[in-house]
Parts: sequence; C-alpha cells; structure tokens
Amino acid sequence: MIYTQPELPYAADALEPAISRKTVEFHYGKHEKAYIDNLNSLIEGTEYEDMELEEIIRHSDGALFNNASQAWNHIFYFFSLSPDGGGEPTGDLRRQIDEQFGSFEDFKKAFVQAGVSLFGSGWVWLSKDLDGKLFITQGSNAESPLKQELTPLLTFDVWEHAYYLDYQNRRADALNALWKVVDWDVVEGRY
Ligand code: MN
Repeated sequence: MIYTQPELPYAADALEPAISRKTVEFHYGKHEKAYIDNLNSLIEGTEYEDMELEEIIRHSDGALFNNASQAWNHIFYFFSLSPDGGGEPTGDLRRQIDEQFGSFEDFKKAFVQAGVSLFGSGWVWLSKDLDGKLFITQGSNAESPLKQELTPLLTFDVWEHAYYLDYQNRRADALNALWKVVDWDVVEGRY
C-alpha cells in the first residue's frame, strides 16, 4: 500500500487569522508530506506494507511508529478544522463535557493548559473510552491515544512547527485561536 496525502477540504488561507496560509502550506504541505513519504519508504517490502495505518501505529515503535503516527495525527488534526468552525459542541458530547468539566469554558481552559504545560513537542488530545468517558491527555512527540485503546476526538498540535511562524513563542495564544476553527460537527461525529 502506498499512502497518499488527502487534499484538505479548504484553501490554505481559509483558516486565517487563526492559522496563516504560510503555516498551512509548510505544516501540511511539507511537514506532513515528509511523514507520509517516510512512512511509505519504511513499510516498503515489510510485514507492515498491507496493514491499515491505525494497525501500524498500534504494532510498531521507533522510526516507523513516529512517522506512521505523525502521518495519522496531522490528517486527524487538519480535518478537525474548518473555516466554518468555531462555536460550541452540542448533543451528547456537550452533555458529557459539562458533566465532567463543569462547563465548555472550563473544558477549553483545561485542554489549553494541558497543551501549554507539555514540555517540548507533542499533542494534546481529547479522547473517549468505551463508556464514553472523556480524557484530556498529553502526548510527547508522536504519542497516540490509539496505543492506549482510547478513541481520539480532537487534537491540537503543540510542536513549534505548528505555530512558530504565526505566534513565535506564544503557544497559549496559538492554541486559544484554534477554538475559532474547530469543526464541532466532525468532533461530535467521532463521539
Ligand atoms: Mn505538526
């Protein structure tokens, strides 16, 4: 199997001002492309060649895990965003957020705080377990909730390459701006 990069369902400048055209072009167009290219060369001629990407992530480590997971994470991240996003979640997901975190505002604070307090590169995740209970987790580098038998619902990329062109060292500002472009329809669908 040869993995290809899915085209984003929006233009590179469509998430401005939360994320600039330049960042989308570098982040998705260059960083994500490199992870996919590396993944393809690492699986060629191996037992992983015919596995689904999520299976590779669950059953690999080292360079293959890092590139497979990063390939998956970035597609998941960019497809959670939309120029028509923002607003607030509704339905079952909203009820669960309110029950566990007190309010949507408190959830957002906890999520951003988890992203800001992650030392170095990684991701902050909202996931659910089989009972629908929500978890906010930090993952260094390419770490994935898929390894913990959780279902990922939403992630913010906290690698510097995700925000440095637009926000330099201001990670909290970069993360808070993302609330304006989160596609809650997509996130609720995953829940
Ligand atoms: Mn990234």
